[in-house]
Amino acid sequence: MSQVIVIVGGGSAGWLTAGIIAAKHSPPEDGGPGTRVVLLESPDVPNLGVGEGTWPTMRDTLRRIGISEAEFLRSCDASFKQGSQFIGWKKGQGESYYHPFNAPSGYGNINLAAHWQDAHTETGFGDAASPQGRVCDRGLAPKKPQTPEYAFVLNYGYHLNAGKFVELLRHHCVDTLGVEHRLGHVEGIVAAENGDIAALQLASGETIAGDLFVDCTGFAALLIGEHYNIPFEPQRDYLFNDTALAVQAEYVSEDAPIASVTRATAQSAGWIWDIALPSRRGIGYVFSSQHTSIDKAEDELAAYLEADPTLAEVQPSPRKIEFQPGHRETFWHRNCVAVGVSAGFVEPLEATALVLIERSAEWISEQLPGDSAAMAVVARRFNEITREHWRSIVDFLKLHYVLTERRDSDYWRDHRDTETVPESLQEALSLWRTSVPWLYESNHRIELFSSASLQYVLYGMEFATDTNNSRYRQWSRDAEIASRLIRDNNVQAETLMASLPTNRDLLNRVRHGSAHRQSQLDGCED
Ligand SMILES: Cc1cc2nc3c(=O)[nH]c(=O)nc-3n(C[C@H](O)[C@H](O)[C@H](O)COP(=O)(O)OP(=O)(O)OC[C@H]3O[C@@H](n4cnc5c(N)ncnc54)[C@H](O)[C@@H]3O)c2cc1C
Repeated sequence: MSQVIVIVGGGSAGWLTAGIIAAKHSPPEDGGPGTRVVLLESPDVPNLGVGEGTWPTMRDTLRRIGISEAEFLRSCDASFKQGSQFIGWKKGQGESYYHPFNAPSGYGNINLAAHWQDAHTETGFGDAASPQGRVCDRGLAPKKPQTPEYAFVLNYGYHLNAGKFVELLRHHCVDTLGVEHRLGHVEGIVAAENGDIAALQLASGETIAGDLFVDCTGFAALLIGEHYNIPFEPQRDYLFNDTALAVQAEYVSEDAPIASVTRATAQSAGWIWDIALPSRRGIGYVFSSQHTSIDKAEDELAAYLEADPTLAEVQPSPRKIEFQPGHRETFWHRNCVAVGVSAGFVEPLEATALVLIERSAEWISEQLPGDSAAMAVVARRFNEITREHWRSIVDFLKLHYVLTERRDSDYWRDHRDTETVPESLQEALSLWRTSVPWLYESNHRIELFSSASLQYVLYGMEFATDTNNSRYRQWSRDAEIASRLIRDNNVQAETLMASLPTNRDLLNRVRHGSAHRQSQLDGCED
């Protein structure tokens, strides 16, 4: 028997989910068994159209669904992203740190952060643990022209044009993976006797029946929210940001550098993201409307744009996006599962939305239930895992704020108030005062943020763990290895700085078809 999966919504969540499921499950042939994937989107409701930073997981996702990296980079105006840089989060000015995608050297075998902490070195943790920050400082690419597609010298994800990304996914899903694309505005739900969704009622009068319905309708949350009334759990008490002002800024010249990190610069009531694509930058201020006014936020954003000499002078007026930070209590209910913004959304710090879409879609695809008894079990497990993801996202994002020493506005003072820190994070912080985060922080099967990420943020924000206790004495035998790893990182940083092309140079080569082949750059070897 064939199975019909109906995905409602044609934003990044809808098309990524369609692609991930369709790449794994073949469509039925001549009425035989198989999985039909139908994607339905409204011609009247536009996509969110933002969401331009990804994790390295996107490389696997694209490869798995069969898109070539060169095609992706060209058609999505995409560039390489090697992590995030946080500017002004600790004291307000003059300081920054990286959360790079490369794990600290020796990660998994030796806890470099513990030794770095012990050594009281002048070098910041990021530079001691990895060469990636220094490579990013110089706007260099994470690979060489001859490095194969999706492979790397330094780990990377992407910056991309969200609208173009959806177009690429749509073409690929329909032309190559056999996804059926329908246009129609859902006006009602036809319920089955047992409470499942039997079909969707369209404005045209047509109905679309299915076995599993994936709600990718964005903030509308048509199925999970409007139809099933699954409660929404706001997170504004912890993460205050609820408004964004977004612009697309032009470069002053075609050869302006392309940063290979997302820059997150702290402001008086939030932070400004800065994402560099080959043809433009995506820049926006995400802030708390309880802590500032739109006018003041616009002024801060304008000042940021004006201060950058690599940007053209005239900028378009910003687009305003309001959102309620939070997520659903459960995500899979009966034969309906929510993926993307319909399931939840919090500020885009650390770009957690697309990765959660990828994880959710993979899980659905791998665990696709065969009947309704299996559906209930799969739903319960999915809900458990996704709740845990949300807890870890809220804790990890809040971690960026709680260690600030900024006292210049209520926004930063409020972020330090214990009342605004989730209990789970308070607990973890008290543990980290005497214990460096390591492999036992979470259940690895489902973790989003490894202890490597925790270390980069904690020690980037100059958190002090007292390693003068018995736990670390037994590690002293590794001290020599740790010192060597730190020295090797310095040497590697020098070598990479001398051999990696700039981000723009490599992207130009990809665009002109001269990258990803053998022996393109003299003297560059992997
Ligand atoms: C300011 C901002 C910055 C962000 N930055 C990042 C980032 O850097 N990295 C990251 O990972 N994420 C980021 N995100 C999140 C990212 O934008 C979203 O996760 C992503 O766009 C997915 O959106 P979506 O597909 O869930 O919803 P949408 O794009 O809103 O799509 C909803 C779809 O549902 C359809 N629909 C709605 N109603 C109906 C109906 N009645 N009938 C039929 N169809 C319907 C619409 O037509 C549309 O196709 C950011 C978000 C914001 C707000």
